[in-house]
Amino acid sequence: MNALLDPESAVLAGVAFAFGLVVGSFLNVVIHRVPRGESVVSPRSRCPDCGHAIGALENVPIVSWIVLRGRCRGCGARISLRYPTVEALTGVAFAAIAVSNGAVPATVALCVFAALLIAAAGIDFDHQWIPDEVSLGGLVAGLVGSGAVAWLDGADVRAALTASAVGAGVGFFSLWSVGFFHARLSVALGRTFPHWPGEGESPPSFPSLDWWTWFPGMGFGDVKLAAMIGAFLGPRGVIEAIVLSAVAGLVLGVAWMAWRRDASAPFGFGPALALGAIAAAVLPSWLSVPW
Ligand SMILES: [Zn+2]
Repeated sequence: MNALLDPESAVLAGVAFAFGLVVGSFLNVVIHRVPRGESVVSPRSRCPDCGHAIGALENVPIVSWIVLRGRCRGCGARISLRYPTVEALTGVAFAAIAVSNGAVPATVALCVFAALLIAAAGIDFDHQWIPDEVSLGGLVAGLVGSGAVAWLDGADVRAALTASAVGAGVGFFSLWSVGFFHARLSVALGRTFPHWPGEGESPPSFPSLDWWTWFPGMGFGDVKLAAMIGAFLGPRGVIEAIVLSAVAGLVLGVAWMAWRRDASAPFGFGPALALGAIAAAVLPSWLSVPW
């Protein structure tokens, strides 16, 4: 953590944090609109209660929320604390990525990665579902980004693309096997998932595609998100991310149950995967393998 003391890192962290706040503000729009199939570009944001159009000065990340004391300027309706929270989380994630990686092309790619993960986590938190635009779009961004970073660094582009594709495969199959065997084992043990899609339906028959993707208890969106994580982090990074996600899932899951006081409150694995993946992008690598 000494890096924070040198002035160059402090400036880099500050710039990344400010940029993260602005991106976080946009992610709030993405989290709200993408699951509803709405455009993230237009129309401009309005208060859901009174329709008051939110002006530029009311849209300054974090600051506006504090100045307005979390209330709409038009009607005084409460503005959720989640808006400044998403902005702050994005700012902190960008700053941490910038400090741990330095002013290099990989930092830009990893900030895009963090933004995709925060969008996925927010949507999964609200809907227990992750849109393909984020997970599969992110998978493509991870492949292209890995190649572009290697090219800008003068490194081996083909090796980077291979690592990205293999990472996507490792992420996909790791989570797929967890979901697949968890679902079969749960059914065999007679467990039910009252809040989850797929509950109450009989398992699909063998040769169909549904048979392979039938996961009550864990969404197939998590599997696609793990593939995206692998495309950005490569095979070693995605394994580190999944291990960290399991720890994050335990902590977030217990916190969620304590807060809701309900052990059956639905909680997607997406936020845990996102947290684990951002941690893997920031923390030094600890898995000592050559890839
Ligand atoms: Zn209002």
